[in-house]
Amino acid sequence: MMNLGLFEYRVRKSPRAKHLRLKMSLQNGLEVIVPKGFDLNLIPEVLRKNNRWIRTAKRKIEHQAKFAIKESDIILPDHISLPAVGENWSLQYRTGKAAWVGAYEDGTAQLSIRGNIQDKAACKAALKRWLTRKAKETLISRLEQVGADNSLKFNKAIVRCQKTRWASCSRYKTISLNLKLLFLPMPLVRYVFLHELCHTIHMNHSQKYWSFLAVKEPECRSLDKELRDAWRLVPPWVG
Ligand SMILES: [Zn+2]
Repeated sequence: MMNLGLFEYRVRKSPRAKHLRLKMSLQNGLEVIVPKGFDLNLIPEVLRKNNRWIRTAKRKIEHQAKFAIKESDIILPDHISLPAVGENWSLQYRTGKAAWVGAYEDGTAQLSIRGNIQDKAACKAALKRWLTRKAKETLISRLEQVGADNSLKFNKAIVRCQKTRWASCSRYKTISLNLKLLFLPMPLVRYVFLHELCHTIHMNHSQKYWSFLAVKEPECRSLDKELRDAWRLVPPWVG
């Protein structure tokens, strides 16, 4: 760890990196990822320039840390509510012969977790795989619908499990959706969709961007604020 005034950071040399990149995570704090042969003396200046980004990212992970739990404290759920898609699932854990764990839908509201269920981390992984499938099946078509309703086009949508973002939109108009969106109420999810879809037109958070978004969703500022506190709606086992 190095210290530059307010920021502690670690440097990671990556043979694959082409440019310097900053990364903030709950596990590692601020990382400065540099390509081979990068002049490390240039780092302090880069940090100074990105001061605002770093502070914002730091605030986000500090906020998350409040809800983070240790692996040994995993409490597996006996039911899962997914307000975003209006589904409620009861869970059943059954020991099976398999060394691994799988999550299987028995009917429309019953989820069976079968296999080596003593292994909590494996149960959690199975549930997360199920959540990912669920998010792909349900959220992407809803995103398409919101896009069509608002005449906003994207190239591709993918589902991930990000730590600090609900969604993102790349330069190539690929929208990444966080599977944790499943735990949010529908109006907030719709807002996230609109937020990202508007980034297909404005790739930033400029005044123009917000004005554009406000036409589609007049409550955008308050919904955005609400979203910042919505991490508490995600059950701790999702991690
Ligand atoms: Zn944005």
